Amino acid sequence: MNRPELFDVHTHLQFAAYDQDREEVIKHTLETGVWAVNVGTRLDTSRAAIELAEKYSGLYAAVGLHPVHTHESFHDAEELGSSTAGGFGSRDEEIGEEYFRLAAHPKVVAIGECGLDYFHLPEGREKEAKAKQRSEFLKQIELSAELKKPLMIHCRQAFGDLIAMFEENRKLLDPARAGVIHFFTGSKEEAQKLVNLGFYFSFGGVLTITGDYDEAVISVPADRILLETDAPYVAPRSHRGRRNEPLYVKEVAERLAEIRSVSYGEIAESTVENAFRIFNIT
Ligand SMILES: [Zn+2]
Repeated sequence: MNRPELFDVHTHLQFAAYDQDREEVIKHTLETGVWAVNVGTRLDTSRAAIELAEKYSGLYAAVGLHPVHTHESFHDAEELGSSTAGGFGSRDEEIGEEYFRLAAHPKVVAIGECGLDYFHLPEGREKEAKAKQRSEFLKQIELSAELKKPLMIHCRQAFGDLIAMFEENRKLLDPARAGVIHFFTGSKEEAQKLVNLGFYFSFGGVLTITGDYDEAVISVPADRILLETDAPYVAPRSHRGRRNEPLYVKEVAERLAEIRSVSYGEIAESTVENAFRIFNIT
């Protein structure tokens, strides 16, 4: 079977940060032996992720509505381009028919990124915003169950509520491949609960910058670990402060091997195998 050397399971090559050189970055990524899932955050970035997946074998897509886009949020130039950035744009998107239609595409391997983000809440409307995040997230859990595609989870300062929602909706989760917790920053105990619910974990460049998550990284079973870059964000140590790229996933793999005291080859092989399994790529 045709397999890559490494699999970046969470990246955003469709974002505005690559408008000047997207094709070059993608070619370089694929030639280096790295495959990737471009993750949508709204309808427009989900559509763009699918367009790239249609154009290149080795690229896949995730379709979803990010929690910060369920209410008015601060927009970022690297994601949406300078016309909408640097201010508060009102998107207030909701999950509807079009998400269902897009998510059914054969190269869409996950639903997300979706989840809860209590770090970015509109001031004075925190309670209402949290409720909206939870209801849009629930729709995406239902979508994931209906299409039998795993969730791609974004969670910031909300692991307690996230786990409570999963426990309440346990029957909607596939215990063998419920989803991917992207950029996991919770505790060892939270990791264990999520493992029991059927989740995988993807780790990125932050591991090369701080040792804060090493204990959690060690606690996750080898068959539940994945690699990511979250490019254009959070570049690993050697490229810190600059735009991230999927091929820097190699530095994450090297660091992960060090933390878990195994060889680079073992990490590369097992994380690719785990990615094929959770995304049902044959
Ligand atoms: Zn992301």
